[in-house]
Amino acid sequence: MTAEPSPDSLSLPLELADFRPGSVWLAGAGPGDPGLLTLLALQGLRQADVIVHDALVGERIMALAAPSARLEFAGKRGGKPSAHQDDITNRLIELAREGHRVLRLKGGDPFVFGRGGEEAQALAERGIPFRIIPGITAGIAGPAYAGIPATHRTANQAVILATGHSCAGGPDWKALAATGAPLILYMAWKGLPGIAAALMEGGRSADTPVGVVTDATTERQRVLVTSLGTCVADLEASGMEPPAIIVIGEVVRLRPVLDWLPKEIPHG
Ligand code: SAH
Repeated sequence: MTAEPSPDSLSLPLELADFRPGSVWLAGAGPGDPGLLTLLALQGLRQADVIVHDALVGERIMALAAPSARLEFAGKRGGKPSAHQDDITNRLIELAREGHRVLRLKGGDPFVFGRGGEEAQALAERGIPFRIIPGITAGIAGPAYAGIPATHRTANQAVILATGHSCAGGPDWKALAATGAPLILYMAWKGLPGIAAALMEGGRSADTPVGVVTDATTERQRVLVTSLGTCVADLEASGMEPPAIIVIGEVVRLRPVLDWLPKEIPHG
C-alpha cells in the first residue's frame, strides 16, 4: 500500500499553458492508470473550477482534482442511463459563459470515438475559447498493458481502429477484413457475434488470434486470448465485463513474450 499523495506533491513541475477563465479544456484522461495522464490534463485537474467528466474516467484520476473544483458527472455509457450529448454541450457553454475554467474530461483520447469533435464544434460556433488535450487512447494503451503491440514490423504495416457500435451503420466489416490489417475494436462487446461472423465471411480465418482486454490499465484489468472462431463462446464463459478493447490479428501472438504487467503488484 502506498500513501495517498499529499496536495503538495501534486503541484505542477512546470507551467504548461494558461487556463483562462471562460475557456474550456477538452482533455483525454487516458484509459485508467493515472500514470498515463498527460501533464496538461493534470494541470487542468489542478486548476479547473468545474470538471465535467464521464463514466470512463476512474476515481483515482478524479482524486487528483483540486479540492476546490466542482465535479459534474456527464456519464454516457452503453446500457446505463446517459446524459444527452446536447445537454452536455450546453452545460459546457453555460459554465464557460459564467466565467469558469472548465475541464471537460473524457476517457482515453477526446478525438477517438469520444465525441470531442462535436463538443469542440459547438464551442467554436459560439466563440468560446477551447484547447484540445489529447489523451492516450484505450485502443493503444489497453493492448500495450496486455503485451500486444498495435504494430510489429514483421506482422503488420497498418492497423485499424474501429467502433463496433452500429448507430451510424457500423463499419463495412468485409471490406476491413480484406485489408489484412489487425483490428482494434472499441464498443464491440455486444456486436461481437455479428462482427466475428462478418470478418470470417470477409476472409479472416477462424484461427486468427483475438485478444480482449477489459478495464484496461486499471487494477481490475483482465485479458483473454482466444480466436475469431471461438471468441464469442470464450468471452461468454470468461465472466469478463465491459468496457473492453478487442484486438483481432497476428499481433496478439506476441503477448506470451511481451506480457510485462506484474500480476501481484497493483500498478499505476
Ligand atoms: N475516447 C475513448 C473511447 C471512448 S468509446 C478512448 O480514446 O479510449 C468507449 C469504448 O472505449 C468502450 O466501449 C471500450 O471499448 C473502450 N474503452 C475505454 N476505456 C477502456 C478501458 N479502460 N478498458 C477497456 N476498454 C476501454
